[in-house]
Amino acid sequence: MSDPFRDALRMAALYLVLSVLWLALSDQLLSSLFDNPQQLARWQLISAYAWVLCSALLIFSSRARLLNFIGVGARLRREDRERLRMAAAVFDSTLEGVLVTDSEGLIVHVNRAFMRITGYDKEEVIGQRPNKFKSGRHDAAFYQEIFATLAQKGEWSGEIWNRRKSGEVYPQWQTICSIHDDCGKLSHYVAVFSDISAIKHTERELIYLAHHDPLTDLPNRLLFNDRAEQALATAQSNKRGCALLLLDLDHFQSINDGLGHNVGDQLLKVVGERLKALLGSGVTLARLGGDEFAVLTEQCPQVGPAAALAQNIIDAMKEPFILDNQRLFVSVSIGISLFPSDALSAEQLLRNADSALFKAKASGRAGYALYTEELTAHAQQRVETTAELRRALEQEELRVYFQPVHDLRNGAMIGVEALVRWQHPERGLVPPGEFIPIAERSGLIAEIDNWVLRQACSQMVQWQAEGRQLLYVAVNISSRLFSQRDLYQQVAKVLHDTGLDPALLELEVTESAVMDNPEVALEQLHRLRELGLRLAIDDFGTGYSSLLRLKRLPVQKLKIDQGFVAGLPHDEDDVAIVRVIIALGKSMGLQVLAEGIEQVEQAQFLLEYECELGQGYWFGRPVPAQQLRWN
Ligand code: C2E
Ligand code: MG
Ligand code: MG
Repeated sequence: MSDPFRDALRMAALYLVLSVLWLALSDQLLSSLFDNPQQLARWQLISAYAWVLCSALLIFSSRARLLNFIGVGARLRREDRERLRMAAAVFDSTLEGVLVTDSEGLIVHVNRAFMRITGYDKEEVIGQRPNKFKSGRHDAAFYQEIFATLAQKGEWSGEIWNRRKSGEVYPQWQTICSIHDDCGKLSHYVAVFSDISAIKHTERELIYLAHHDPLTDLPNRLLFNDRAEQALATAQSNKRGCALLLLDLDHFQSINDGLGHNVGDQLLKVVGERLKALLGSGVTLARLGGDEFAVLTEQCPQVGPAAALAQNIIDAMKEPFILDNQRLFVSVSIGISLFPSDALSAEQLLRNADSALFKAKASGRAGYALYTEELTAHAQQRVETTAELRRALEQEELRVYFQPVHDLRNGAMIGVEALVRWQHPERGLVPPGEFIPIAERSGLIAEIDNWVLRQACSQMVQWQAEGRQLLYVAVNISSRLFSQRDLYQQVAKVLHDTGLDPALLELEVTESAVMDNPEVALEQLHRLRELGLRLAIDDFGTGYSSLLRLKRLPVQKLKIDQGFVAGLPHDEDDVAIVRVIIALGKSMGLQVLAEGIEQVEQAQFLLEYECELGQGYWFGRPVPAQQLRWN
């Protein structure tokens, strides 16, 4: 009870006690004091005045206290009302839905946000139970858990799926509190919730983005690895196999560089679509990055079907792609690895498929290769060879051999090609095919080519001094060196250091080196040409030259790849190709040289079709400088 009220009561009680005492005792007290009736009457009058005064004082003071109390109460009630009004406003304007039930679980109040989120009007839900909104996504145990937590802690928070009036199921983040009255008895439950479907959507979108390639909409490496792990686990428990095919587009870089990244992107997209259509469902297709795609299939557990699938893919890619009204031809190389015969983990399977892909690329592209144990051995050997190659360079184990180049018309040796060998202390003479690709991968090729160039130039200077009649020495330059901006400076330095006349030097670059990155190659070739040396395109016919590009290259010679010469003069295809290359070279004012001439008939055929120059075992194998036979 508040103090002013208690004071007022206390005053009233005091007044009552004093009144009773006054009535009972005042007359007796005055009569005993005064015998004189006149005196007695005067004092009775005085005391009556005094009593009235005292009563008035007491009444005033308690009234003031009482009024004071009444005033405070009124003010308090006003504040409470204000507070309630404010709470109601907040309650109604908050973005969270609010639902209040009584202790029986019947809805007694909902706010505006509740109506907006659920789609229900107030009248439709008051008096009803909240299970009206159940989505059916949670079992009974879930709700029991909520009530148990509420009973124990008085509060529960969590994610819950409910159903809107429209029937749509959506996620809420909900907090439920139990409310107790002054006596501690449960009076209400208040649930506050927000609609988190937008957040969920973004979350889903983020998860999707993290697992898919935005360009092709295919699974990315992350998801592919995940699926591969799962597939292997299922395959293992079902005692079945599966195959992983790793695809890489051939010469994609030249499309990117020549036609622009936009076209490159579009091409990747349509390649993805074509693969998807070809493979159908039940197969995991992913883009692992760049122009690399992966296929995981449980339908081809054996070598035969897996190879057949690879061939299907290769054939499907042969159909031209139409982009921006242009017909684009692409081919694909595929590496295959099988579970469980080649590898037991997804990671290993992918690594093996990569080795197989490397093999497919090395053996001429537009084909597939299978992973075998032998390939793993190769990979290991590659690592070892790199270390050994470093040592070989330091300890000068490399040798330069020279193969003669002849004029087919008179048979005279007019030049030589420098070809590197490795005099291995245990393995003997190692041909370049076994270490050049490794040197290219490890970057050692720059040093090797530079060394060979220096040796060849020095040798040529020496021959000149000896009066040997040679028009040129040809040196092979790896495509890897094209990415080095200072390539022409390195060549210029060697020419300067050795003192060789640049006109006596010819550099050979392979056709695929030029076509893999035509813009860069073009720039490099122009710079080299400015040094005064000559340029030849090696292994011509194996790349995918566009004639237009070829015309722009500052080259003076085409070397027909020995693969086409081998079939001469009987293989019709080879005959046709060789004739076309010779005619093409001539029409562009280029010299044409045929490599790999092993038989006199081949030389005769070539001469007949006006190929000027030839090189091959028929004329002479590559040999050390001192073993060259001079005219
Ligand atoms: P390439 O430049 O096309 O060299 C011609 C290859 O054909 C040489 O193989 C040569 O020995 C071989 N050859 C010549 N005549 C005949 C023949 O009548 N029949 C057959 N079957 N083969 C013949 P080699 O020396 O093993 O070189 C292979 C490739 O290695 C070369 O092909 C070249 O691309 C690369 N290479 C060689 N030396 C170097 C080098 O110093 N630097 C770089 N980057 N690559 C080199
Ligand atoms: Mg060559
Ligand atoms: Mg060649």
